[in-house]
Amino acid sequence: MGAYTVLLAEARGLSREVLGGKGYGLAAMAQAGLPVPPAFVIATEACRRFLREGEVPGLWEEVRAKMAALEGLTGKRFGRGEGATPPLLVSVRSGAPVSMPGMMDTILNLGLTLEGVEALARATANPRFAWDSFRRLLAMYGEVVLGEGAEVFEAGLAALKDRRGAGTDAELAPEDLEELSFQYLRHLEARGTPFPLDPWAQLEGAIRAVFRSWQNPRARTYRRIYGIPEDLGTAVVIQAMVFGNLGEDSGTGVAFTRNPATGERGLYGEYLRNAQGEDVVAGIRTPEPLERLRDYAPELYRELHEVAGLLERHFRDMQDFEFTVERGRLFLLQTRSGKRTAKAAVRIAVEMAEEGLIPKEEAVLRVEANVLPGLLRPAVDRDRAPEPILKGLPASPGAAVGHAVFSNEAAERFNAQGLPAILVRPETTPEDITGMYLSQGILTAKGGLTSHAAVVARGLGVPAVVGAEALRVLPHEGRALAGGVEVREGDLLALDGSTGEVYLGPVPLVEGGEEEALRRLLAWAEPHRRLGVRANADTPEDARRAREFGAEGIGLCRTEHMFFGEERLPWVRRLILAKTEEEEREALERLFAYQKEDFKGILGAMDGLPVTVRLLDPPLHEFLPPLEALRAQAETGDEEAEVLLERAKALEEQNPMLGFRGIRLLLLRPNIFRMQLRALLEAAKELREEGLDPRPEVMVPLVADPKEVERAKALAEEVFQEYGPIPFGTMIETPRAALLAAEIAPLVDFFSFGTNDLTQMAFGLSRDDAGRFLPRYVEEGLFPFDPTERLDEKGVGRLLRLAVEEGRRANPRLKLGLCGEHGGEARSVGFVADLLDYTSASPFRVLTARLAAAQAGM
Ligand code: ADP
Ligand code: MG
Ligand code: MG
Repeated sequence: MGAYTVLLAEARGLSREVLGGKGYGLAAMAQAGLPVPPAFVIATEACRRFLREGEVPGLWEEVRAKMAALEGLTGKRFGRGEGATPPLLVSVRSGAPVSMPGMMDTILNLGLTLEGVEALARATANPRFAWDSFRRLLAMYGEVVLGEGAEVFEAGLAALKDRRGAGTDAELAPEDLEELSFQYLRHLEARGTPFPLDPWAQLEGAIRAVFRSWQNPRARTYRRIYGIPEDLGTAVVIQAMVFGNLGEDSGTGVAFTRNPATGERGLYGEYLRNAQGEDVVAGIRTPEPLERLRDYAPELYRELHEVAGLLERHFRDMQDFEFTVERGRLFLLQTRSGKRTAKAAVRIAVEMAEEGLIPKEEAVLRVEANVLPGLLRPAVDRDRAPEPILKGLPASPGAAVGHAVFSNEAAERFNAQGLPAILVRPETTPEDITGMYLSQGILTAKGGLTSHAAVVARGLGVPAVVGAEALRVLPHEGRALAGGVEVREGDLLALDGSTGEVYLGPVPLVEGGEEEALRRLLAWAEPHRRLGVRANADTPEDARRAREFGAEGIGLCRTEHMFFGEERLPWVRRLILAKTEEEEREALERLFAYQKEDFKGILGAMDGLPVTVRLLDPPLHEFLPPLEALRAQAETGDEEAEVLLERAKALEEQNPMLGFRGIRLLLLRPNIFRMQLRALLEAAKELREEGLDPRPEVMVPLVADPKEVERAKALAEEVFQEYGPIPFGTMIETPRAALLAAEIAPLVDFFSFGTNDLTQMAFGLSRDDAGRFLPRYVEEGLFPFDPTERLDEKGVGRLLRLAVEEGRRANPRLKLGLCGEHGGEARSVGFVADLLDYTSASPFRVLTARLAAAQAGM
């Protein structure tokens, strides 16, 4: 290779980092003997240098030399036709090392000039095609390189069609397209950005524009959402053009080697006759399913099947490939590992292992553990749902209910109010990425299963229905028409991305389940797992569900939820207001009865497995009505409200999170402590008498000092006198408790790391208020990720490691667990897999924790 450029045929051994994903895939296909139009790649290093220094010394000489090589390979001259030989035209394509679909700009038909159009028309005997190619080049170049808005070109085309009374582009005559081309040329000239009628100037301009497009806002947004580093840069592919718009025996398509929504084996994709590639990808015309080729082009269909098999054997993964047919001849233009839903990811990995394409261990490692909750997404309960108002293509599975929004801004508005949104668009483009990201569901009127909307929705895991052709979306009027129904911004819509059905208003949903493929994958994974996996569950129902997902106990059962509920709250309030011991005792007795029943339910659901119960954690005022409401009520003369108001004022705190709660409250109101622990032990006793095997454990929250633990333990032991002991532990969720682990450990049987609070206190930030700045911190690269979602190994992880090491040394029998949100996040689980005995995750994340723990052990 030259310093910066390399022909596909000579790119053997070069990495994806150098060639970009597109160049890498093309080179691999060319080397495998597949029909790929000749091309060369400008390496990513050139882009990085260009963005740093504004110029790349020696690049243009190299490009000229490689273009000469393309001329040799194609037998054509760049931009110049000779007799019956058409001019060589090229596409200039961007391709980053990481797939960023639709994020960067590609220019087709480059190298055409006025003489070139004549030569192309002559050589193909198709002047319509020649002028069509030219007007496309002018519009693409005008937009991408010269910075003109796309609307100008679209408006020009639309006006011309109106004047000619033409319904589609295809009805325009060659002279019309010629006229349009000159109109574009004049327009660009008048704007002071004339189109270069010299092929080499076009080429240089286009390459620079691709380099610059790395920095465009769409690309930045995409990189932020997917956590792609900013400094990779893009490669540029310069490739001889082949034409899918030469007539009915030509066309262009996109195919997946397996179904990206379900994972089912078999060629799956879409084809558009007499069209150029961008037409399919942009979802502007709705293409036909590939199977149709079987009828009118069986030979081509068979060839595509063979290509699919070859690609899978070569890349050992499901591929998403782009192709063009020029007068019956197939050319491959791109291949990459296809984006897929969680469901498809699991099925594909499992079936590929069973087909012998990959080892089982690799199948286990391939499934990203964090996607598993997506598998359990609900579906619309069709038996109880009303009639759908629309049907489109099922593009990304799962059901969604939300308020209709027609723009990014509206999606942001609803999101800021905590309301779910459904983004409704005619079709989507990369400009819509923010709205798609912020919506619970996506609905489009146009486009197929490989349209931008479908691909991005699957990648984001957002349910989507696309190509609902009966839908007319009028974003500027803030409404849409679905058959006879008008949908306005804010109207409730529901959709099911597994069936393609769309409903007006809320609909009943049914939960998704664990599927056969996933069961097999987990069976292969389990032998590699050492870390225990428990669930965070507060109700028997959650406990049962978690157990179905394979939870080996409960790591965190919060008891405060048991204090809410219509019947109970009045007694909690009496407890808070009690002036005499008598009043307190009566309230506690009532609450004891409720708690005992709750504990029986949970211990019963987890029969034979450990259940760690955390005693009361929140501050008492959380159980009183908000001050505002009380004040209003007291003003009406309501005496009870007056009393409550006084009490609420007395309990009010500036920073309740750091206030009178957790162990502090339990030690200073010890009767609450005793009542809760007795309820737990009484529940266990009754279950044992029924012949069950309950395994309760108890822990105290928010400890900061060993003295607190000592006192709590003494209280617990009083109750143990009566019932016999159970494991007694403490949460480690203040930095001081972590630092004093050596002193605390000998007092307890276990530590449970409450990484939510530990993170908040280590960073000095509150999760409830962090929404204002954390996303921007991540966006601006101040934090590499959101530490409330993924455990911060550097800081919080250091506290955790220290407490583990010193705690274990001081008490070798100490058991160690984690029970924050991080307990179900794959990378965090990977981090603690060798440090702790178990992690505890919300029920739907138990599968993630199991898989991530197994992957960490491989
Ligand atoms: P993206 O990164 O947006 O997918 P591509 O570089 O793949 O952009 O180009 C978009 C479309 O243009 C492709 O789908 C492909 O079909 C078409 N295309 C690109 N290069 C050529 C070429 N040399 N000949 C014919 N069509 C091409
Ligand atoms: Mg593109
Ligand atoms: Mg492409």
